[in-house]
Amino acid sequence: MAAENHRPAKRTKYDFTNDVTVLIGKDEKKFALHKSLICKSSIFFWAAYSGVWKESKEATVRLPETETQSFTTYVGWLYTERVDLLEEPEQKLPWTDKKGETLPHRLPLTRRAIDCFALGDMLQDVNFRNAVITELMCICKMGDTIPSLRSITCMWEVIPQNSKMVELIAEYWAAECSTKEFDASVDMLPDGFVKMLARVGIRDKHMASDMRKPSMREKWRYHEHASENEKCK
Ligand SMILES: [Zn+2]
Repeated sequence: MAAENHRPAKRTKYDFTNDVTVLIGKDEKKFALHKSLICKSSIFFWAAYSGVWKESKEATVRLPETETQSFTTYVGWLYTERVDLLEEPEQKLPWTDKKGETLPHRLPLTRRAIDCFALGDMLQDVNFRNAVITELMCICKMGDTIPSLRSITCMWEVIPQNSKMVELIAEYWAAECSTKEFDASVDMLPDGFVKMLARVGIRDKHMASDMRKPSMREKWRYHEHASENEKCK
């Protein structure tokens, strides 16, 4: 696309006088944001607000398919450089208990990370995608979280199969899953994901089991960096 030469610049000077509006979800929740900040980070917004598209004439972009929660996390990261997957209000999801009352529910963290990564993919914001990966690795370091079957099937629908998030989740799965759990879920897992698990298993077969889990020391393996030099240490 035309935006290929665009490189999000470092966060130095911003013009905070120029606002844009983003309307999120079917109910068009309104976010008023600084144009320079959002356009430096996201190629999608840069294209939307810089004359490449028809919409650029207006200062409003509508994203009806985007979840408010993921976008709130994105905006939080834009302004603070922190990805908050843990801080999340309870949500009313459209499922009910036996009495017909809507149940409050917290999405599993891996599922939240997947949704945020998918948003980063849609907004073409590589720095946000890398930040989501790092945050998920921090959370997974604290406990033996194994992504749920539901998270994986969801991931397969919303994230490109060759993305770093898919690779990371497959490696966590291969490291944490027991053969019993594998047998119970293999028929429900996407075929492509099972192939990835097999590949990870073969690659890591001579490694001690505690070495197989993705390590924060090697987080560059799961980031997208433009060049070798840019790799985080
Ligand atoms: Zn990195």
